[in-house]
Amino acid sequence: MHDWHHLIREVADFPRPGIRFSDITPLLADARGLAAAIDAMAAPWRATRIDAVAGVESRGFIIGSALALSLGTGFVPIRKPGKLPARTLHEEYALEYGRDRLEIHADALSAGQRVLLVDDVLATGGTLVASVRLLRRLDVELVGVGVLVELDALHARTRWPHPDITLESALR
Ligand code: AMP
Repeated sequence: MHDWHHLIREVADFPRPGIRFSDITPLLADARGLAAAIDAMAAPWRATRIDAVAGVESRGFIIGSALALSLGTGFVPIRKPGKLPARTLHEEYALEYGRDRLEIHADALSAGQRVLLVDDVLATGGTLVASVRLLRRLDVELVGVGVLVELDALHARTRWPHPDITLESALR
C-alpha cells in the first residue's frame, strides 16, 4: 500500500503556543496518499453493515465523505452552531477555555440506523464524546468511531467513556 503517514505535517505552536498541530492538508492534496489513508480507515469496517457515516465539522466532513463513498453509504454532517438550516438537536462540551456546541439535524438519521462516526484527529476526545451523545439522542446504533490520527500522548483512549463503542485509528 502507498505510504501516507509522512504526508501528515506536524506544525509546532499552532493555533496556540504549546500545541502540536497535525496538518492533514498535504495528505488531502496527494491522490495516492489520500486513497491509501481512506482505505486504511475503511478497512476495520468493511465486514460490518454501516448505513451512514457521520462526520464532525470541518475536517471530519472531508474525511467522512470520502469514507462514505468508500463504504457505499451516505454522509451526515455534525456542525458548529447556527449552520444547519432545519430543526436541530445540540450538545455542549467543554473546551480548554469555555464551552462549545455541536448540532445535528433532528431528521438526519432514523432510529436503528447503523452509524459510523468519524473525525480527522482524536486529541482529548471531547468533540467525539459530545458527538456520540448527539447521535444517541437519535436512537441510532453507533457501530464505531474512526479517526485518521490518534494523538496517543493525550490519552483519550484510556478515558474513552463508551466501552461498547469501538474506537479505530489509522495512525497513532
Ligand atoms: P478533541 O476534542 O480535543 O479530541 O479535539 C479534536 C478536534 O480538534 C478535531 O476535530 C481535530 O480536528 C481538532 N484538533 C485538536 N487537536 C488537534 C491537533 N493537535 N492537531 C490537529 N487537529 C486537532
